[in-house]
Amino acid sequence: MMECFVCSAESEKLPILGDWTELRCSDGCGHYRLSGTLERLLSVNQQRLDVVRTRGWLEASRVTRPIPMITDLTAIYA
Ligand SMILES: [Zn+2]
Repeated sequence: MMECFVCSAESEKLPILGDWTELRCSDGCGHYRLSGTLERLLSVNQQRLDVVRTRGWLEASRVTRPIPMITDLTAIYA
């Protein structure tokens, strides 16, 4: 278990092979990936993602990609 990157809710970390973290959030963010680069940036810069706008982005992205990946290029900061 770990914290959701978006809303901090308890989340299941899924096994992966690439440079990203894949989570299933127990609250409203659902199943998504977060790139390794963004994970390091969030940690180094002590930044948070905007919960409402990121959830909206995830929902819109699922229309074309079932498991959207939040990267440093698509992150919406709080
Ligand atoms: Zn969440």
